[in-house]
Amino acid sequence: MKAGEIFVGGKWQATRSGETYQPINPANEEPIGVVGKGDKGDIDLAVTAARKAFDEGPWPKMSPHERGRIVWRLGDLIQQNLDEMARLESLCTGKTMFDSGKVEIPFAAEVFRYYAGWATKIHGETLGLRDNAFTFTLRQPVGVVGAIVPWNFPFLLSSWKIAPALAAGNTMVIKPASQTPLTALRFAEICQEAGVPEGVFNVVTGPGGKVGMALVRDPRVDKIAFTGSTDVGKQIMREAAGTLKRLSLELGGKSPNIVFADADMDAAVRGALTGIFYNKGEVCAAGSRLFLEDSIHDQFMSKLTDRVKSLKVGDPMDKATRMGPVVSKGQMDTVLSYIESGKQEGARVVAGGGRADVGTGKGYFIQPTIFDGVTNEMKIAREEIFGPVLSVIPFRSVEDGIAQGNHTSYGLAAAVWTRDVSKALKAAKAIRAGTVWVNAYNLFDAALPFGGFKESGFGREMGSVGLDSYTEVKTVWVDLS
Ligand code: NAP
Repeated sequence: MKAGEIFVGGKWQATRSGETYQPINPANEEPIGVVGKGDKGDIDLAVTAARKAFDEGPWPKMSPHERGRIVWRLGDLIQQNLDEMARLESLCTGKTMFDSGKVEIPFAAEVFRYYAGWATKIHGETLGLRDNAFTFTLRQPVGVVGAIVPWNFPFLLSSWKIAPALAAGNTMVIKPASQTPLTALRFAEICQEAGVPEGVFNVVTGPGGKVGMALVRDPRVDKIAFTGSTDVGKQIMREAAGTLKRLSLELGGKSPNIVFADADMDAAVRGALTGIFYNKGEVCAAGSRLFLEDSIHDQFMSKLTDRVKSLKVGDPMDKATRMGPVVSKGQMDTVLSYIESGKQEGARVVAGGGRADVGTGKGYFIQPTIFDGVTNEMKIAREEIFGPVLSVIPFRSVEDGIAQGNHTSYGLAAAVWTRDVSKALKAAKAIRAGTVWVNAYNLFDAALPFGGFKESGFGREMGSVGLDSYTEVKTVWVDLS
């Protein structure tokens, strides 16, 4: 791969326009490299390659054993290139090397291994004799998949799409986020090394409005797997209607983290911090609304504000750092404007509240910020901030906590903290969200589905359910009369 190239039909090539751009390292505001600025013409070529690889190529027709071995190899190669992949991820996103190297890239490798195992287990059902006919179903790949991913977990969220899509025999074109394209490009080299046939996996970099939209509109693409903001998700849904594409949409969130008075307080404090400050709050499932039962509010806040001081903000490459910069200047300005709005609406800043000075005079660093005295009606409690800003909201009873937690247009995730099993299970059932953690936050596993209720989207990623959305069911009748 040379600087500025995209990966189409198994070959590295310049974009048709020859245009490039430079992603910026959010920790020092320096350019990281040169990346192709693709457009509709590049998508046209990539979809042609993916279509050919699906319609004629060996991939969907290959023995599932062989396909599974290649998908497994992808997982192994990701693991072998862990340090490089983690470094590329941290350079673009500002996430710490701990987050990328110890958590996210290894998790992505596991996702490939998990779905490698599924390649040989995708099958329909035999329904047997009906009306003198023998009947059964087949599960077949959907076809050409367009994957559009955001910048917060660039490679991990890509793996949630690529691994099941490839295991099921689909071909694909991926469009990474403009700020964070480097791991997708490096992964294309890994695909070459693993023996993924030409045209099966293609990467086109460039702006979402052009490259992403061209993918959504192309009638030869059968499915769009999108993770990103709710607004862009709605736009994609409208555009996809033109060609009636299959869609899975993993969108935003404003997740409630509800602590009941009988909870293990120290564990809940740790959970509240991880829930909002992991990856600087740039997490779709972030526990950005912390609900505290009245009677424990003061004690909890004292512990929380004490512990938040230990979160060192700084260079993501430094081992001591717990929080790097947010991804871009645009994102920093958005987060700071939400902090201003919280102050103006009368919420009380009890930690942070502005930019963090890390001593270099550069970088998009924000202090871990906690607002107390927030109401569910305030903008900082309603809108997804996608940064290190926590809104603390009091509640009176189990019913009140759950009702307030549910009072949001989103439904991606939630957590409840209590020692009472029956209270925990009632809350888990009543909360309208795709994932509910009990006495924990941010647990994920390749075997467990993840996705949203309400405006957090639809469709699930990971687990066997995640695989289903990359297959079509076909019913076959054999007339025996
Ligand atoms: P975004 O602005 O929606 O962008 C996501 C992706 O869509 C990027 O690749 C972007 O390309 C592309 N895109 C932008 N406009 C497009 C258009 N008109 N047509 C087609 N593609 C388009 O979201 P983001 O700011 O990168 O990511 C943050 C959002 O993702 C948050 O709302 C977060 O909650 C959500 N998210 C959800 C999950 C989940 O699993 N539910 C996980 C992670 C993140 P460019 O980069 O070139 O603009």
